[in-house]
Amino acid sequence: MISPRLEIDLDKIHHNARTLVERLAVRGISVTGVTKAALGSSEISATLLRAGVSALGDSRIENIEAMRLAQMPVPMTLIRSPMLSQAKRVVMHTDISFNTEIEVIRKLSCEAQKAYRTHGVVLMVELGDLREGIMPGDLIDCVREILNLPNIAFKGIGTNLACRSGVSPDIRNMAVLSELADSIEEIFGLTVDIVSGGNSANLNWALSGAKIGRINNLRLGESILLGRETLLRQPIDGLHIDSITLTAEVIESKVKPSQPTGKIAQTAFGEASPITDRGYVTQTILAIGQQDVDPYGLQSPSGIEIQGASSDHLILESDNNVISVGAEVTFQLNYSALLRSMTSPFVTKVMKNSSNWIDRDLEESTFKKLC
Ligand SMILES: *Cc1c(COP(=O)(O)O)cnc(C)c1O
Repeated sequence: MISPRLEIDLDKIHHNARTLVERLAVRGISVTGVTKAALGSSEISATLLRAGVSALGDSRIENIEAMRLAQMPVPMTLIRSPMLSQAKRVVMHTDISFNTEIEVIRKLSCEAQKAYRTHGVVLMVELGDLREGIMPGDLIDCVREILNLPNIAFKGIGTNLACRSGVSPDIRNMAVLSELADSIEEIFGLTVDIVSGGNSANLNWALSGAKIGRINNLRLGESILLGRETLLRQPIDGLHIDSITLTAEVIESKVKPSQPTGKIAQTAFGEASPITDRGYVTQTILAIGQQDVDPYGLQSPSGIEIQGASSDHLILESDNNVISVGAEVTFQLNYSALLRSMTSPFVTKVMKNSSNWIDRDLEESTFKKLC
């Protein structure tokens, strides 16, 4: 089979998504399936839909456009603030976007008028993680302003935690979001449809039995694809953590000294050279590198250790066990490794479904549709 490749088990992804959708439904929370690590793959997004997500969300308009062409029959949400320069595309291809800047929403309103469309807006609120978000004290004024903008529908509010600063979603910050929803309803006499509490980092809170308040939506990516919550990266009970694996091929296998010879300067990526002397070691090189994966996000099989990577080479050491040229090594990935591999055109994506290999090249299907 072609190498390097990601093997994507759609049944396992379906199981993970379905399980989370069901567990959260009991708590009155819908799931927006976040597809940004899937590069707009119609197979993966269709799998999420079959599992019962109520909407699809992505941070890149290009991915949403690819899914639109595949005619996904659910609301498409842009979960990163739109670029001013992309406002027209956002209005044309998404139903809702997450916003924090009135200037952007005004532009969306203009473009929506021109296109005879209505664009839904969710306002993101800053609750401590210091990534995107309107300061809570400025939210009411912002709602007032957008209620007057033509062709803009105020859909709700949301927040995003545990991304830039690792701030945990908890009873306190979730209660603040709930109170803000209540205030908006009281002041403007309207219904706040969407109160989107966060991402995979919210699962511990959402499933803990804590009071959910007004939160009725979470946006889940990593927990569906990799089966882990994201505060401590613990496996979630009953979910698969191996839905996606990365396989690469050996191009050199030799016994070499562990210590480099000669005058030592920087490595290809400006790192310090490895200098511990472990005598002679069994070294293997795989044909994959920094261009294709975050090497620090790979988990190797037991008995094999990742020693380093340059653009196109991944260096392994194995316990005296020679891995022959042409053999393959398979890794589990964290989110960072997954993102980079999914977006590398050099890594083939192979989909597996109910024990059949669909064997479709993801980047081919995505890019062809876009051209
Ligand atoms: C990426 C992202 C998500 C999904 O996060 P996961 O940790 O993958 O669940 C949700 N919301 C926003 C705004 C995001 O950018």
